[in-house]
Amino acid sequence: MESNNMKMEIKATLENVAVVRVAIATFISNLDIAVDELMDIKTAVSEAVTNAIEHGYDGVLTEDSTVTVIANYEKNEYDNIKIIIQDLGVGIENIELATTPMYTSKPELEHAGMGFTIMETFMDEVFIDSKKDEGTIITLTKKLKKKKSKS
Ligand code: ATP
Ligand code: MG
Repeated sequence: MESNNMKMEIKATLENVAVVRVAIATFISNLDIAVDELMDIKTAVSEAVTNAIEHGYDGVLTEDSTVTVIANYEKNEYDNIKIIIQDLGVGIENIELATTPMYTSKPELEHAGMGFTIMETFMDEVFIDSKKDEGTIITLTKKLKKKKSKS
């Protein structure tokens, strides 16, 4: 298989962070991926999904609130993975501030303000598209390390 894609929609509840982690891990397990790269991707996706639930729907959560996760990969000379995490929540007013290491809008709730920093550390690119009161789309991409040639 040279490419693959998936789309899942979860209810915006923290229990579902683990559901997404398992789904993403299974999805990319078809690739010849190193254990550390798999861990990096799971960690980054968990941060983005957690943000969508905790911040995206902060104060506007309803029974119908959902987070959509879209993933695809392309096998090439290098394997490329792209994962999109979308919420339809409050949006991020100041992206520069939000992505500043150790900035959190919820310091009282044991947030370290490190989610975006973790995503940027573990992925090659983190693209943020957000509109106030419309929601946020996070696009994470990673180019996998070149593997030894295999049959
Ligand atoms: P931590 O991730 O360490 O628990 P945190 O979630 O506050 O803390 P980041 O993940 O870096 O830190 O996010 C920084 C800030 O960006 C958040 O405090 C929040 O204000 C804002 N933010 C992040 N994701 C979203 C989102 N999907 N919708 C609205 N605001 C967001
Ligand atoms: Mg966070």
